[in-house]
Amino acid sequence: MTARLLLCSDLDRTLLPNGPQPESPDARARFARFVSRPGVVLVYVTGRHRELVEQAIANYRLPRPDFVIGDVGTTIFEVTQNGWHLQQAWQAEIAPDWAGLEHADISALLAGNRLLRLQETAKQNIHKLSYYVPLDVDQVALLDDVRQCLVKHHVNASLVWSVDEPAGIGLLDVLPARANKLHAVEFLMQHCRFSYTNTVFAGDSGNDLAVLSSAIPAVLVANASAEVRAAAQQQAAALGNSSRLYLAVGGLLGMNGNYSAGVLEGVVHFMPPTRLWLDRQGTGQAE
Ligand SMILES: [Mg+2]
Repeated sequence: MTARLLLCSDLDRTLLPNGPQPESPDARARFARFVSRPGVVLVYVTGRHRELVEQAIANYRLPRPDFVIGDVGTTIFEVTQNGWHLQQAWQAEIAPDWAGLEHADISALLAGNRLLRLQETAKQNIHKLSYYVPLDVDQVALLDDVRQCLVKHHVNASLVWSVDEPAGIGLLDVLPARANKLHAVEFLMQHCRFSYTNTVFAGDSGNDLAVLSSAIPAVLVANASAEVRAAAQQQAAALGNSSRLYLAVGGLLGMNGNYSAGVLEGVVHFMPPTRLWLDRQGTGQAE
């Protein structure tokens, strides 16, 4: 019987070597061969919207995934030879959080707030409302205002605040509470009938922490910062999931554990028999 694996990976600075640390020369090619095996279902989990995911796949010559969890968990696409197919079942799963309201309705509710400036159309979708916010505002008071306005209309939203450092601007995402990476990965596990024994997640940064510290076996790539490493270990321990978190250190096939090398290292850690999939690559042995 073919061994099955649901491999869910973040893109930026996890699979994509777009951080300051070096990438092992063969890592991405090995990764591509590894996931081309029958039985592997490959999922990209990212804050990027569809066009930016397609751009990353092309620019970095990544393998075509089977699914993409995009827009910070607000969309799931199945990707086949015929194209990208938005998973309506996921839309139906997250829609109740917004009490049936959609992008246009919520943006109308918040239109009176002059600190919020809508981001470009490509960064918005039915269940994702994204704003630019000046960095010098009282963040706590602003989030409080937004939250109060939404609660009044029975909207259960998560407010995700981040900073675009190079541009010097704050970013605020208003999302259905259930639309996050962790819940989306769990949804796909159920949808594709995978369990904790044959699912692995890989990530590198703060927005991956909820999955890294969950019961889903997860690897933190070696290029992650010391702060994220400490936070992931602490949160996983607090939730009793320390054994489900692996920190890549390098060494697998002489690779450094950064980016895709770390992803492979994590899979081999949680599913040791898959080590053989890598050994057979070099010998040209067919299976
Ligand atoms: Mg990342």
